[in-house]
Amino acid sequence: MANLHVGFIGLGKMGVPMAENLLRAGFRVTGFDLNREAGPQLDGYVAFARADSAAAAARESQAVILMLPDSKVVDALLWEGAPGLAATLAKGTLIIDMSSSDPVHSRGNASRLEQIGLGFIDAPVSGGVKRAVDGSLSIMIGGTAQEVERGRPVLEAMGKTLIHVGAAGAGHAVKALNNFVSASGLIAVCEALVAAEKFGIDPHLVNQVFNASTGKNNTTEHKVENFMLSGKFNSGFALGLMRKDVQTAKDFIAGMGTPDEFVQKCLAVSQAAEAALEKGADHTAVYAYVRSAK
Ligand code: NAD
Repeated sequence: MANLHVGFIGLGKMGVPMAENLLRAGFRVTGFDLNREAGPQLDGYVAFARADSAAAAARESQAVILMLPDSKVVDALLWEGAPGLAATLAKGTLIIDMSSSDPVHSRGNASRLEQIGLGFIDAPVSGGVKRAVDGSLSIMIGGTAQEVERGRPVLEAMGKTLIHVGAAGAGHAVKALNNFVSASGLIAVCEALVAAEKFGIDPHLVNQVFNASTGKNNTTEHKVENFMLSGKFNSGFALGLMRKDVQTAKDFIAGMGTPDEFVQKCLAVSQAAEAALEKGADHTAVYAYVRSAK
């Protein structure tokens, strides 16, 4: 797939730096976003073209990346409208859904796309905007071995750790589960820091101890100082997206019939924080929510 033409749909906080890394790696990229002004820096690349519809972005592409908010948007784009994107693609086109979508929907999409001669892999990412910028995302992939190999050169331009976790939908399942585990760590840290502060302990010192002890996690290492105690709340990952991921994990776990008490609690806190904070709040603002409720 080297030198191939990639269609990129969804030029948001993550999509723009990911598309830039494809361009730097030598791919031709045609992008589309509902917001025509998204990612103006992309227009500076000679190998970048901006399309005025998703179908136009995908028309000459051998691979089409979706980096969209959720399964509802992905499904509508593929199947709805007159016609949906899927019906406009050349046979053999590989669709790579890198959004954090719902695994059950993705499994369904893979099967429907196969029936009309199109390939599909789910390849959601972890690492946030920072690692999207430096091309070191962690990418969990679902799909057949053959299609995963077809997509690998494209994915390698955006990520550092690529793990093929199973059949179509498995990547999205692991992504939702990862974000549930991550959100649980974030909420636990918020509750711990607020209680410690009320007891009179400096939260910076508390976090220093966590990072030198068994409480260390991604929140303590990367978010507490940079985005929470600094009051900046600008990590680039919206609380609404975190809540969606935890909801997906809850639905997935409930669907498996395995214990789901903790994920339910994690979802309830995420929903309450989202309802209390302003629209579009960053996920690190859960700290402000917990603080305001003390
Ligand atoms: P974002 O809201 O910044 O970007 C989404 C983009 O999709 C927007 O620019 C929007 O205009 C566009 N869009 C929506 N519907 C569209 C449509 N029908 N056609 C074309 N464009 C459309 O979101 P983001 O932070 O870039 O996240 C994208 C995906 O990646 C989400 O599924 C999110 O859960 C996941 N994700 C985000 C992060 C992060 O740190 N931000 C990390 C890992 C995964």
